[in-house]
Parts: sequence; structure tokens; C-alpha cells
Amino acid sequence: LTQLFRPLDLLGMVYRTIRQGVTDMGAMFDLIDTPTEVRDAPEAPALAVSHGHVRFENVRFGYDPERPILKGIDIDVPAGTTLAVVGPSGAGKSTLARLLFRFYDPTGGRITIDGQDIARVRQDSLRAAIGIVPQDTVLFNDTVGYNIAYGRAGATAEEIAAAARGAAIAPFIESLPDGYDTRVGERGLKLSGGEKQRVAIARTLLKNPPVLILDEATSALDSRTEAEILSTLEAIEQGRTTIVIAHRLSTVVHADRIVVLEAGQVVESGTHAELLRKGGVYAEMWARQAAEREEALAAA
Ligand code: ADP
Ligand code: MG
Repeated sequence: LTQLFRPLDLLGMVYRTIRQGVTDMGAMFDLIDTPTEVRDAPEAPALAVSHGHVRFENVRFGYDPERPILKGIDIDVPAGTTLAVVGPSGAGKSTLARLLFRFYDPTGGRITIDGQDIARVRQDSLRAAIGIVPQDTVLFNDTVGYNIAYGRAGATAEEIAAAARGAAIAPFIESLPDGYDTRVGERGLKLSGGEKQRVAIARTLLKNPPVLILDEATSALDSRTEAEILSTLEAIEQGRTTIVIAHRLSTVVHADRIVVLEAGQVVESGTHAELLRKGGVYAEMWARQAAEREEALAAA
């Protein structure tokens, strides 16, 4: 892969990304290992989101043509519903999110939002419609307020504080001597993984997109903070199409539908109750994690 890495292309890409107003810094940093650039077709129209119905239709993809990662994915997420994607690490869960944000184009099949192939609409319009809370959030070397406001240009101080409250990070920020003006990032205050994730959640609350992707959004949080954030996340999922990627199954019980991804294929799907009744892969994962939770409780 490294021989495909072309620094000049990368710089151009980052520049265009900034110009196009990608509002997820973590998502932008994912570009750094993007070997090829997706391009807008000439005269590509803007995406018109009416309801936010997301579909993956027989989607195939590999970062390297020799090694398929997604092997024909069919997923239908009706507008306003929550779909959870679970499965072992390396199954291709984050890759689904990257394709929906169009960091890459599928090598087969297509992804549509309200019937429009996302490879045929302008990228800025696509990315404006989607909020991502990524697995690893990278912050700007700027103030914490700026980092939250990046979700929406022109947000007021009150709106920023409201988003921070929603993401359960306001008390922490307000306890800092410079409050929202505190500089963060490499040249400022170092935030923990969980604090960075909460900044990303606040940014997404402010952006208020019709389509939301939460990629292990609570994985860096301790279980108390996770419980605090989960109710917020469930609240922001209301009325928008959400794809929740999770390793910890306790965070996806409420989803309208759950798909289990293994080695790039959907091996099971249904509601939590249906999948438990089925007694397959999901039920097994659930039983294993429940046992782990009990052990942790007993040890505490
Ligand atoms: P998950 O999120 O389910 O853990 P990913 O979608 O991140 O899995 O990764 C699926 C597979 O693709 C893994 O084998 C991973 O090593 C590979 N992969 C992920 N990102 C890249 C990349 N940028 N270049 C090459 N291979 C990648
Ligand atoms: Mg992942």
C-alpha cells in the first residue's frame, strides 16, 4: 500500500476536503491512508435528502483488489430507524462507514440515500448530510469551543454550551480556567480518549445531520460515562437514520435492526429478541459478553 501513498495528492486532497467543508476532523484524518481519491462526476447534482433512507445494494469493496473486504453487502436502513452493525474486529464494520461517507467507492454494487447513488452526487452535499462520531477523534490545535463549533459554522456560544451539555462534557469544560477558550490538541490540553469522543459527540449534536454514523462511539468511555452518553445518543438517534457500529452489544439492544457482520458478509440480522431466539452467532456473542459483565461486577 505504501507505494500508492502519494504525498502531493494527499495534500491536495486534504486541502479540497477543508475547502469542501468536511465537518468531521476524525473522518478527515481517515483520508491519510486513502490511496486513491474519489472524484465528483462533472455536473454532479447535490444530494437531495427527503427522508434519509439508506441502502447498501450488493456492495463489494477491498482496499487492495486482491483482498476483498466486503463481499456483497445488502443492508436496508429505512428513514428514521436505527441499524446496529456488530461483529468481530476486522469484519469490515468501519469500512461500511467509510464507504457511506464516500472515502472510497465500492468496486461492485451501490449505496443509495433516498434512491440517489452516493457516487453520483456532489461529495460536499453528501458529507453535509452525514454526521460521524468516529472510532478515534482527532482534534484541531485550537480551542475546545472551536472544536465543538466545527460541527456548524456560525454557532453561538449558547448553542455550543448546549451541545456540550448534551454530550456530558460541559461540567468538565466549565471547570477549566479558560472554559471554552481552553486550547486543546497537541499544543494544548491533552484530552483523554473519552473526552475527545464527547467533543465529537457535541460537534455532531450541533451539526444535526439527517444521517448519523456512530462508530464505536462509546468504546473509549468507562461504563458510567457510557451510560450517561447512551441516553443522549439514543435521544439524538430519534427522527434520523442512524447506523451504530458497536463491539459492546449492551449498546445496541435498542436498535430497530441488528446485522452481524463476519469477514465482510452479513451472517445474521433481526431485532435483539429475534437474534437471541435464533440461538446463533449473536446469541453466542451476547452470552459471552453477559458472562464477562458478571465477572467484572463480581471483581468490582
Ligand atoms: P472493523 O471496523 O470491523 O474492525 P475495518 O472495516 O476497520 O474492520 O477493517 C476491515 C479489514 O480491512 C481489516 O482486515 C483491516 O485490516 C482492513 N483495512 C482497514 N482499513 C484499511 C486500509 N486503509 N488499508 C488496507 N486495509 C485496511
Ligand atoms: Mg472499526
